[in-house]
Amino acid sequence: MQTQPKRLEYDVVIVGSGAGGGMAAYALTEAGANVLMLEAGGWWDNSKDSAMLKMPYDSPRRGASTADRPFGEFDACVGGWSLEGEPYTKAEGTKFDWWRARMLGGRTNHWGRISLRFGPKDFRHKTIDGLGDDWPLSYDDVAPYYDRVDKLVGIFGSVENLPNHPDGFFQPAPRPRCYEILVKQASDKLGVWCIPARLSIITKPLNGRAACHYCGQCNRGCMTNSNFTSPNVLLIPAMKSGRLTIINNAMAREVTVDQSGKATGVSYIDKATGEDRHVQGRVVVLAASACESARIMLNSKSPRFPHGLGNASGVVGKYLTDSPGTDVAGFIPKLTDHVEHNCDGVGGGHIYMPWWLDNKKLDFPRGYHIEVWGGLGQPSYGFMGGIQSYPPRFGGYGKALKADYRHFWGATVGFSGRGEQIPNDDCYCEIDPAVKDQWGIPVLKFHWKWSDHEHNQVRHMQQTFRNLIAEMGGEVFSQMPTKQQGYGISTGGSIIHEVGTVRMGSSATTSALNSNCQAWDCKNLFVADGGPFVSQADKNPTWTILALAWRTADYITQQRKAGVL
Ligand SMILES: Cc1cc2nc3c(=O)[nH]c(=O)nc-3n(C[C@H](O)[C@H](O)[C@H](O)COP(=O)(O)OP(=O)(O)OC[C@H]3O[C@@H](n4cnc5c(N)ncnc54)[C@H](O)[C@@H]3O)c2cc1C
Ligand code: SF4
Repeated sequence: MQTQPKRLEYDVVIVGSGAGGGMAAYALTEAGANVLMLEAGGWWDNSKDSAMLKMPYDSPRRGASTADRPFGEFDACVGGWSLEGEPYTKAEGTKFDWWRARMLGGRTNHWGRISLRFGPKDFRHKTIDGLGDDWPLSYDDVAPYYDRVDKLVGIFGSVENLPNHPDGFFQPAPRPRCYEILVKQASDKLGVWCIPARLSIITKPLNGRAACHYCGQCNRGCMTNSNFTSPNVLLIPAMKSGRLTIINNAMAREVTVDQSGKATGVSYIDKATGEDRHVQGRVVVLAASACESARIMLNSKSPRFPHGLGNASGVVGKYLTDSPGTDVAGFIPKLTDHVEHNCDGVGGGHIYMPWWLDNKKLDFPRGYHIEVWGGLGQPSYGFMGGIQSYPPRFGGYGKALKADYRHFWGATVGFSGRGEQIPNDDCYCEIDPAVKDQWGIPVLKFHWKWSDHEHNQVRHMQQTFRNLIAEMGGEVFSQMPTKQQGYGISTGGSIIHEVGTVRMGSSATTSALNSNCQAWDCKNLFVADGGPFVSQADKNPTWTILALAWRTADYITQQRKAGVL
């Protein structure tokens, strides 16, 4: 870890070390570039820093959350829904949650690792249903990079030949657990597709990393590096080249430009001293996460770019989307008092339910996938959500309470829908003219409104999940939410799939970037996170962030070799 740049000027300066920044750094250093990375958070190496082997009784808190670890004190990711000294604001009437990591590797330290390719239709949906916009590139343009990511990072899954859910280079998937077999049986009866999960966890050794030993604690960070994180799969290997310098606790403020409008580097705050610093680069890649990269661009104002860098079109901050989501959990009596069995596995579901229906017969566009949870995971503070919620109502003290917990442990199954939102004019972020963070950097203000498309979609999710639980002979814990309750739709941003704020396109007037994620009005500025997405699909975004970041890095390498950059 460095505290100061080693050189006067770098070939490439990257802001942010998560999925996008990590992949860009890996590919660029491998191609021979000298790269400097600015990361707002501290150092992290899962081999040493992970709490994978901790037991709840190792802590008086029993794993309960802390201010900077809202997902539990053993969770690997430092960050949260609110960060001290780093506010964001919301327009009146807006509900929006923004999850920000502040550490090496960003959110890749505890993401769910559901690793899905977008399908051919996902890049050209406007042509199909007239909504949103088409991407300026096709599945065939991205497919070679999905292939490379599969092979470098590692992913398990199964070849299914499903339309619009492309297969990849899969390692063997783990067998379904007991409750997952019940879900599969119910899905088959109701005609819902249910296939082995696709997660970036290795079940065979790969590139010096050991296969998963099924401890189920992926969110705590993996000491054997058997799952994907940016630090252990991309950054620490890239540092071995000697061409990657990482400066931690460096909060980027803005991209600087010269008189010709070319980016010259990045100015940042050294968080340890509070000093303003600047690093020079021939190319700048922003990968600070979709909204943060938009913030940096909007804050990079100069006489030549009065509305922010790369924002001549005015679209930076616009077209923000998140996956509409909702959850339903139920109690499955046949899973109580079970025969003891092995429920070990990876830190995530072993099954996955891709979108399976035809929109022509539905009252909403696009689709959603279903994530399934349950099983005999390690109990910790607050597990099972309170024994009093189990029907008929249980609870109490002492031996009887312990017996109740044993009886019900593993008898809950839950379904989470993750859908596709159509970008709309009411969902965007902009710079708040009145509020600054602790370093004087203007902050983002969010605007959010789901449309009827998403409300109808989550109503369908709710009904489907209730039907599945009924088919399993179970009892749902909650009432069907009403229209007034938005059918139980998630708060914008809370599914943590925010993308689209720096969209790519085929025209400089309607997009910020071209199809190589290069700013139309600043040729040596690139974006390598979820910002360039034109639409989000019914899949989780990170496999596409990784593939696009690698593609962008290859383009930068070609342009550098051609002497253009
Ligand atoms: C609990 C959870 C589960 C998830 N599950 C899945 C899943 O199963 N599948 C999936 O596809 N996605 C999932 N995601 C989303 C996934 O984590 C993100 O899509 C992905 O990490 C985004 O990568 P990124 O590079 O854009 O940003 P990040 O990973 O957030 O990295 C951004 C980095 O930039 C740094 N940074 C920010 N601002 C600055 C600044 N001004 N200066 C310097 N550095 C800065 C941050 O500290 C951070 O390290 C999940 C996320 C969470 C939180
Ligand atoms: S389940 Fe596997 S990949 Fe996850 S932390 Fe345990 S060993 Fe590592």
